[in-house]
Amino acid sequence: MSDHPALHAAAKTGAPVVCLYVLDETTGRALGGAARWWLAQSLRALGAEIAERGGSLVLHRGPAARVIPELVRESGARAVYWNGIAQAPHQSVERALEAALATLGADSQNCPGDLLVPPSAIRSKDGRGLRVFTPFWRRVLSLGDPPKPLPAPKALRPAPRIAGDRLESWGLEPSKPDWAEGLRETWTPGESSARERLRDFLKHTARGYVGDRDRPDRDGTSRLSPHLRFGELSPRQVWHAARFAAAEDPALGPGIEKFLSELGWREFCRHLLHDHPDLATENLQTSFDGFPWMRDDKALAAWQRGRTGYPIVDAGLRELWHTGVMHNRVRMVVASFLIKHLLIDWREGEAWFWDTLVDADPGSNPANWQWVAGCGADAAPYFRVFNPVLQGDKFDPDGAYARRWVPELKNLPAKLIHQPWQATPIELASAGITLGKTYPQPIVDHARGRERALAAYAKIRRG
Ligand code: FAD
Repeated sequence: MSDHPALHAAAKTGAPVVCLYVLDETTGRALGGAARWWLAQSLRALGAEIAERGGSLVLHRGPAARVIPELVRESGARAVYWNGIAQAPHQSVERALEAALATLGADSQNCPGDLLVPPSAIRSKDGRGLRVFTPFWRRVLSLGDPPKPLPAPKALRPAPRIAGDRLESWGLEPSKPDWAEGLRETWTPGESSARERLRDFLKHTARGYVGDRDRPDRDGTSRLSPHLRFGELSPRQVWHAARFAAAEDPALGPGIEKFLSELGWREFCRHLLHDHPDLATENLQTSFDGFPWMRDDKALAAWQRGRTGYPIVDAGLRELWHTGVMHNRVRMVVASFLIKHLLIDWREGEAWFWDTLVDADPGSNPANWQWVAGCGADAAPYFRVFNPVLQGDKFDPDGAYARRWVPELKNLPAKLIHQPWQATPIELASAGITLGKTYPQPIVDHARGRERALAAYAKIRRG
């Protein structure tokens, strides 16, 4: 409820306010399973916060441009306030809504609030968005601090009761089977938990962020991504809290600068999505349109289930399945493995992440997949094929992360944990492992996979 520009503006009028959430599944990309689970919890938390201030949250499902004017007619509302979304399908709904409200004689107030800077403020000389991160971020920083976040309204004047849907009737949460246990164990969606997490990060984790952020075996990052994704915390709140913390304790400076630049990547991905609405389906670099992807359903299923035979890759995919997130370093490793070692189309991996991540973001997810594939904006060099053993040894040197998520390997010593196939029969036996039975053999040999990837990339470079 804090830094919610539409709610703030509506409450300020002093008129009774109807708080409405519309689940519009006809606009934009349908949410994946894990995100639907998060949305349900988040709406419950929001409903409780609104009730504490004397209001109530009304839920409706259907096309926003139809549902909202109907409710305006029913309630006699004189104005509608909403937080604008700078993405093509939402913008056309907003225009249709404005037109419908105008015919009803109701005011429209579009209050942007989900970005640090609107896409229109960061343009090249020829009016296009920037496609390289460093100059993009420099431009954002040159604009100075974003506006200060807005406080939550202290009280809401309740409007006459309006009928709405029951949250349970939307079927957002899984029941048979109920696969959300790991999500419930890991997360408490909602604004107050988001704020607590931010405070905790700034107090305990920001100091070591530069060194720890790449270590999946440490608690080295903020874990704010799903809260930001669902608007429980705004980027402006994060920005100002982080800057304040660094001003209070200059030792936090380098950690905070790096952290804010990561928030900058979120912004960059959203701006890219604004300019390229088909980011999840089309290569940004069209030279990739003829890429010789392979179709291999068996390998894709092994990857999705965390059974590739590479412990760092399998740990990441099992962490994802259980918690709805995966450490950023490991996201890069598993994405590179799918795209380069298995030559499976990046869109397959993007779709799996979309369904299983609680932070699945319409900008960040496809932009990062395209970045790893090499077909995106400011992409990783095509010849970078992560070696999963070296990545494991470097970023999970004691194997704590691999052991946690691949417990069948837990008795292997650190020097073998990322390459169990190098263990002798005696070492395997004493760790209780039978390769090919209790844990898979690698589904592709690293050196062969790398060569095959480079040959495929050479093909499209030759055109
Ligand atoms: P922190 O390190 O604490 O970073 C702070 C915030 O900065 C994050 O919460 C996030 O909002 C933003 N951020 C950090 N890194 C990135 C990045 N590379 N791109 C965009 N924003 C970033 N992030 C998502 O929020 N949603 C996604 O769907 C998503 N898909 C990804 C897919 C792939 C293949 C890869 C490689 C990365 C993806 N990321 C995505 C980015 C990143 O992995 C997560 O944002 C990060 O792991 C979240 O953890 P955190 O909140 O602890 O991050």
